[in-house]
Amino acid sequence: MIGVFGGTFDPIHFGHLRPALDCLEALRLEELRFVPLNQAVHRAQPSAPAALRLAMLEAAIAGQPGFVADPRELERSGPSYSYDTLLSLRAELGARVALCLLIGADAFAGFLAWHRPLDILDLAHLVVMQRPETPLHLDSELAALSQDRRALNRADLVAAPGGRILFQPVTQIAVSATCIRRLLAQGRSVRYLLPDGVLDLIQQNGLYCVTHPHPESNYTNHTRIFR
Ligand code: ATP
Repeated sequence: MIGVFGGTFDPIHFGHLRPALDCLEALRLEELRFVPLNQAVHRAQPSAPAALRLAMLEAAIAGQPGFVADPRELERSGPSYSYDTLLSLRAELGARVALCLLIGADAFAGFLAWHRPLDILDLAHLVVMQRPETPLHLDSELAALSQDRRALNRADLVAAPGGRILFQPVTQIAVSATCIRRLLAQGRSVRYLLPDGVLDLIQQNGLYCVTHPHPESNYTNHTRIFR
């Protein structure tokens, strides 16, 4: 069984990493692919350039068996639809392997507004990670779908390539990329909210702050948009 974890990762932080590790272990995934998006569909565009978001991701997961950085959305132009990503993973991995799309509970609440949500469920299971400070409020249609497709445990997922929805308890870590960007814009420290390797890249490249990027930064196309 393969996990897929899409996100802006702007930047990646412990609120992504620890719940992802919880899922890797609880579901005994062969691997968990982190897929940074290129062009956001339902939210503001990322602040940091794609190459740097990928570099931060690679630094964050270095040395963790089973964690893999998958740049396929960055290599594709146009909106980063999860449906297209899962389709290309299916083409690569075959029809039989179980795929688990990991999403935070806040993202799941808007799932039916995604591009081709029911086709996504044909391609993969959903694993919904409870997010701190976000009580799960589902509208009636999504609540009915969750009930209808509900998986109770790993065995329910392994039994089919996709189509089920599992609510997975994960470590509650109240960190968001928004809060990290805000702290940096205020000149405050973000140490202990994300891995040191990610912090080093943020500092070396002057990311998310109001000062200019480090003169030796290898990365260009650096936008200065704060949300
Ligand atoms: P932003 O604050 O910019 O919206 P974010 O911290 O929510 O970013 P994303 O890259 O947008 O991070 O999130 C990718 C996925 O990770 C989403 O499904 C989101 O729900 C989930 N996620 C993010 N932070 C946490 C957290 N602290 N706990 C559990 N899931 C999380």
